[in-house]
Amino acid sequence: VTRVCLSLLACLSLASVAAADDAVRTPNFVVHAPNREVAVLVGKQAEAARKTQAMQWLGYEMRPWKRPCDLHVKLAPGLAEGVTTTRFDGDWVFRHDMEIKGARERFPSVLAHELTHTVLAHALGKPVPRWADEGAAVLSEEKSVTDRLDGVFEQMLKKRGQIVPLQRLFTMTDYPDDRAGFYAQASSVTRFLLERKDRVTFVAFLRTADGKGWDIALRKHYDIRRVSELEKAWLADQRGRAEKRISAEGSKP
Ligand SMILES: [Zn+2]
Repeated sequence: VTRVCLSLLACLSLASVAAADDAVRTPNFVVHAPNREVAVLVGKQAEAARKTQAMQWLGYEMRPWKRPCDLHVKLAPGLAEGVTTTRFDGDWVFRHDMEIKGARERFPSVLAHELTHTVLAHALGKPVPRWADEGAAVLSEEKSVTDRLDGVFEQMLKKRGQIVPLQRLFTMTDYPDDRAGFYAQASSVTRFLLERKDRVTFVAFLRTADGKGWDIALRKHYDIRRVSELEKAWLADQRGRAEKRISAEGSKP
């Protein structure tokens, strides 16, 4: 099974990589970058993100990967994109490939996103439900990214019919046309659950859901009886939050 995870607004094609190649090897990555200095920098950042995200979502570090992850880096001012391709063999991760594109100051945030995908793939040993995979990855990024998506979601709350029912969101295996809306909703639901319990619990919830379904997993880890109950509580919470923000803005001098 091959699973491709795209970060926000990444293009769907896996663009070819510049021929000039100063590959740098770290314990888990082979970094291909326009020059050696960038390759060394990104190698360090990728190893750090791999460790940080594993500690956050698993509570322990992943073992070194048997096959290093090829990480292709492109400098592109104004962008912050990434693509991770994960190949599974049976119930374990065979290998990852990664491509990131952006201004260098955005690399830590993009890497946090992409490495979160690798950690969740490791935890489940199979493709992770899309909403949870992207929701978790987005919430690992810097605040400017989540703030922007919160704005998108606030607009969705105002319009009828833009929000995908959770029962459907939870079974989506591919990206819908409205990619920004999907990331905004996925991260909103994920954050609602993360505010109740920690990240390790969220991963345990995904594992339970994989074998026993969403309702049983919600009951076991969050004391929520079923998806429809989660939907109600989540929407009420999000509407309350949006109202608070609007009234706070209204009272500014
Ligand atoms: Zn992603």
